[in-house]
Amino acid sequence: MSFDTEAVHAAREDLAGLGVHVPPIDLSTTYPVADVEAGGAAYESLASGGTPRPGESLVYQRLWNPTVGRFEEALARLEGTDQAVAFASGMAALSATLLATVAAGRPHVVAVRPLYGGSDHVLATGLLGTRVTWAEPDGIAAAIEPDTGLVIVETPANPTLDLVDLSAVAAQAGDVPVVVDNTFATPVLQRPVEHGATIVLHSATKFLGGHGDIMAGVVATSTEWATRIRGVRALTGGLLHPMAAYQLHRGLQTLPTRVRAQQDNAQVVAQWLNRQDAVSRVFHPSIPGCDPQGLVGRQMNGCGAVLAFEVASFDVAVAVAQSCRLVTHAVSLGGVDSLIQHPASLTHRPVAPEARPAASVLRLSVGLEDPGDVVTDLCRALELASAPAGSGSVDQGRERHGSLEVLSHR
Ligand SMILES: *Cc1c(COP(=O)(O)O)cnc(C)c1O
Repeated sequence: MSFDTEAVHAAREDLAGLGVHVPPIDLSTTYPVADVEAGGAAYESLASGGTPRPGESLVYQRLWNPTVGRFEEALARLEGTDQAVAFASGMAALSATLLATVAAGRPHVVAVRPLYGGSDHVLATGLLGTRVTWAEPDGIAAAIEPDTGLVIVETPANPTLDLVDLSAVAAQAGDVPVVVDNTFATPVLQRPVEHGATIVLHSATKFLGGHGDIMAGVVATSTEWATRIRGVRALTGGLLHPMAAYQLHRGLQTLPTRVRAQQDNAQVVAQWLNRQDAVSRVFHPSIPGCDPQGLVGRQMNGCGAVLAFEVASFDVAVAVAQSCRLVTHAVSLGGVDSLIQHPASLTHRPVAPEARPAASVLRLSVGLEDPGDVVTDLCRALELASAPAGSGSVDQGRERHGSLEVLSHR
């Protein structure tokens, strides 16, 4: 079945047999056990990361929840993996993955920057018992040590949309499993296991949820890794709530449509930004020079809905972010409404200064608004940010909106 059909129907095949049209939500925190022996056997199997056997008690929500299980199955189908394991946040998903490699006696991690600020921070501090070597994509093989458990990359990367060639990374990693943070692309645009990755990670808070109202994370991977990671989840408890799992499973039905529409809008905005004198550089795979390896088409089916752009200085960047009205000045991304933020001050604040994004860079997640309205807002914000106070150029900016080339796009 095609991807779009899977998005609508995956993990819903049993519903008609149950006599319902949408999945039931199971909020039980505990489950009756038939007897001590059967309950104990179920506990042991689930607590070590197994999946429930037919007729077996689920024992306790921290070990298994059917509503969460449905979302996991649907996401695994979209990513093309055996299984998926869902968490209370993207950072909980990454933490469980890191703890799983520490538990396996392989605490060394090779990671390619840039990564999401929180991921960079947890690796740089070694909080969870890992030891990191930062490598360029072509230096991964040289960075691998006898106890290397994971190679971690993000593509497109947060916030500058750098693209990493996953099959080249997998070739360099050899037997070491490659973890790909697929938050920006989603399985609509990129399925990393098709390019040699073993573990696909998402902040489901972003595109998968898509409406700014769910915090979640998920790891899609082989049965072997899912079992280990689920075992860590059972012990450490970074669970996804069943209500959130229900919303995520529902959100997957519109994911392909949302992602494609948002990326079309992002392309319009990226191209407009690229024509502005006040913008020195635009980071989006659709902009010439941003995809030097030709990965769009080969690894990704599209350019995505997140972009970044550089203005004259830190002060101008801050003023642009603070002057936007329609576009909300806020962290996060991937929702139906557009968000702008200053990575060096916010999402990438904990990153070491030498690896931190430039202070003149802003990140923009483009939503489902008419891109002409987003452009109008950015135009006003750029004018305001570049204008000396009281010069009246904001009004000039307003007058110019009607003649913006992009407004005739639709
Ligand atoms: C937001 C984000 C994370 C962290 O996810 P949370 O859900 O906020 O914990 C990880 N990776 C990327 C690329 C992100 O954008």
